[in-house]
Amino acid sequence: MTDTISFLNELTSLLGERGLIREPDAMARYTSDWAGDTLGMPLAVARPANTQEVAEIAKRCYEHGVAMTPQGGHSGLVAGALPAAHGQELVISLERLNNVRAIDPINFTMTVDAGCILENVKLAAAEQDCDFPLSLGAQGSCQIGGNIATNAGGLNVLRYGMMRELVLGLEVVLPDGRIWESLNALHKDNRGYDLQQLFLGSEGTLGIVTGAVLKLSPRPTQNRTALLGLPSVQAVIDLYSLARRDCCDLLTAFELIPRRCIELAIEATPELSDPLDSAYPWYVLMEVAATGPIDLGSMLEQLLETGMERELVLDGALASSDTQSAQLWQFRESMLEGQRRRGEHLRTDISVPISSLPDFVSRASDVVMAASPECEIIAYGHVGDGNLHFNILPPLSMADSDKKAHLHDLEERLFEVLDDVNGSISAEHGIGRTKQAPYLARLSPIERELISGIKALFDPKGLMNPGRILPAKQ
Ligand SMILES: Cc1cc2nc3c(=O)[nH]c(=O)nc-3n(C[C@H](O)[C@H](O)[C@H](O)COP(=O)(O)OP(=O)(O)OC[C@H]3O[C@@H](n4cnc5c(N)ncnc54)[C@H](O)[C@@H]3O)c2cc1C
Repeated sequence: MTDTISFLNELTSLLGERGLIREPDAMARYTSDWAGDTLGMPLAVARPANTQEVAEIAKRCYEHGVAMTPQGGHSGLVAGALPAAHGQELVISLERLNNVRAIDPINFTMTVDAGCILENVKLAAAEQDCDFPLSLGAQGSCQIGGNIATNAGGLNVLRYGMMRELVLGLEVVLPDGRIWESLNALHKDNRGYDLQQLFLGSEGTLGIVTGAVLKLSPRPTQNRTALLGLPSVQAVIDLYSLARRDCCDLLTAFELIPRRCIELAIEATPELSDPLDSAYPWYVLMEVAATGPIDLGSMLEQLLETGMERELVLDGALASSDTQSAQLWQFRESMLEGQRRRGEHLRTDISVPISSLPDFVSRASDVVMAASPECEIIAYGHVGDGNLHFNILPPLSMADSDKKAHLHDLEERLFEVLDDVNGSISAEHGIGRTKQAPYLARLSPIERELISGIKALFDPKGLMNPGRILPAKQ
């Protein structure tokens, strides 16, 4: 890189004092993620106010050979947005690009800046009686650009799909500073290669997303939530299969929760008490939602009756108001905090074919327990998508210095079982830095050649989020 001081001075005159942070104390909040992980300090933090400024920054980085790290709401869980330890990456925070540009309730689309926080996008859609259905635990902090870059999923994927299915158009600043504007609001468009899809899940390695056209849905006018106790993972899958058929396409969420997660939720939020009269090994939190005159209550009651007759469901609580529904969802949210409080643990976001889930959970649990009998397994997730967070808490007695190597060993054993069922090592969080080694180890030569070719075409100098997904260019 050329002279750092003159490069940073150039950026300051471009962006103003508010647009470029250079002091370490002020930069600190851009160096860690939700999990509290940090790697290093950035060269500086650029806070552009619009797409043109993002383009000007990228142009200068390209000229001076400076690496760029696009950053959204810091909720990514694979260290993709964290600046590298060597301190030479310029963080480009999208937080000031936060305007809803337009909403078209007839076309069911909205055009937003990439830095809009997901929760705000959902509220803006609701004001027009529409729904932007992406829902996830981090929605109060994650940004639309981050959701696009990670192809985020979440609680409602089984009905509405992942981010890939919720984006119609994009505006992207390429690594050399050119702006690719493709803010189409077309529900059907079949012209040649779909360039846009390359950016979905590209984790900031191909360009900086600055704007997007999102696909909306009619806002559900009613929903019903139930928390059920079940005897086994097989019963969970059998109930899921029944629910997919008996609830038409109205099933919006179907979450698997093991007993230990209910306990972790209660530990983290003492106002919560056991949701059912007895404890059950597995729970399902499910929701149906609809617009129009459909009797959701009867539909859910009928499903539960059948589930009980077939001995799939042992007990259940049905929410009869929004407040009760929110209380049931509180278990799902608080259990994450409960896990976080247990300190360093293995987080995974794997997926397997839904029908293989019971066998996978049983085999993977056997393998992990044989290697580490004192650890705790908490396998929960968006089971309707075959997506499982098969997380492992190390024994409380284990020294912090031993945890990393131990958890890494367990992850390798877990992934071997996953390979046997042709599963994926990442169903939603992506590869980033933390999953790079197991990802690369599983790429075929032809996949590696094509993926490296795409990266080289978009980013010939290897300046855009280097070292994420693929190794940094030498
Ligand atoms: C409590 C909790 C629950 C979660 N639940 C889910 C879930 O259910 N489903 C799910 O899929 N994920 C989930 N996540 C993960 C995370 O919320 C998503 O990956 C989210 O999409 C990240 O968005 P962000 O704005 O925080 O991105 P960041 O963490 O800031 O960045 C993530 C990646 O995207 C890149 N990036 C960010 N913005 C841009 C941009 N504008 N242009 C180009 N690249 C960019 C970064 O460089 C980085 O590689 C959860 C996380 C937490 C903490």
